[in-house]
Amino acid sequence: MGCMESKPKRELIRIVADKDGHISIDPTGKAAGRGVYLCPSQECFAQARKKRAIKRSLEIEIPEERLDQLFEELRAYEKKDS
Ligand SMILES: [Zn+2]
Repeated sequence: MGCMESKPKRELIRIVADKDGHISIDPTGKAAGRGVYLCPSQECFAQARKKRAIKRSLEIEIPEERLDQLFEELRAYEKKDS
């Protein structure tokens, strides 16, 4: 979604906004709320962030500091090629 690559959902990581507007990474893909799918890479997140695709897809305002935190959290899920 964010980077416009089409990949199977199982290869993507879901970022979800709950009804209170809290943003989190949803590794199960099953958390309630509006979600956006990104590749599990910081490059993809950075691209999506630059294009404001995350805020647009989740339809909420996200503080830049929270996006910074998510960026860090994403490291744990990042998959390396090779
Ligand atoms: Zn991507």
